[in-house]
Amino acid sequence: MKRSQFMIQDRPELVKYFASKNPGHLFLFVLPLWYFSIKSIANSDISAVTMFFSFFVGVIYWTFLEYAIHRWVYHTHFKTRTLSYFLGSFHLYHHKEVGDRRVYNSGFLMIYLVTPVVISPFILITGKLGILGALILGLSIAYFIYECVHFLIHYKKFQSGYIAYIQNYHFYHHEKASNKNFGNTSHLWDLIFGTYDERYKVYKMSGSSEFSLIRSDKV
Ligand SMILES: [Zn+2]
Ligand SMILES: [Zn+2]
Repeated sequence: MKRSQFMIQDRPELVKYFASKNPGHLFLFVLPLWYFSIKSIANSDISAVTMFFSFFVGVIYWTFLEYAIHRWVYHTHFKTRTLSYFLGSFHLYHHKEVGDRRVYNSGFLMIYLVTPVVISPFILITGKLGILGALILGLSIAYFIYECVHFLIHYKKFQSGYIAYIQNYHFYHHEKASNKNFGNTSHLWDLIFGTYDERYKVYKMSGSSEFSLIRSDKV
């Protein structure tokens, strides 16, 4: 049998590993991270300033990861077909099938594959469990907010405010320039790495994109 472009097209039962329908499913998987983080902060003797600073570093670190994973992992064209077949299931499939509601959020496979990798540098440079806990708390809260924002972007058409801005920014990436505007919660890292395309400001979401929203006016 001929193989499809992405693994989750051939193995729909794997969707629950690669993706989630909404951020609520993910809550169960980030909860242990929050529990561990808060417990390690409570048991440590770090000052409030150190704690807030570490938390803030964790938040900024996530915003960078959000950009880096989207640009350099999800949108990289890997020469190995098996790797593209597997990794494409995490995001390129979402580009291809923007109306597939099963994949608006990451699955727990992503959380548990990525978390050990992204926190390992901090384990090496900080000996204090409290600092590590505050970092992971900042990182995982920012990550969860990112998932909620991506869900809202695909939920309904927003007319004003922050979600309207980021919705246009993201749909411009979806529809017009998949090599630009990788940020999902802000354009900060696109500006830094030169992938910011301000034409999203005058872009109007197409009818088909609007139709793909969970709450569109479709009948
Ligand atoms: Zn999207
Ligand atoms: Zn993308």
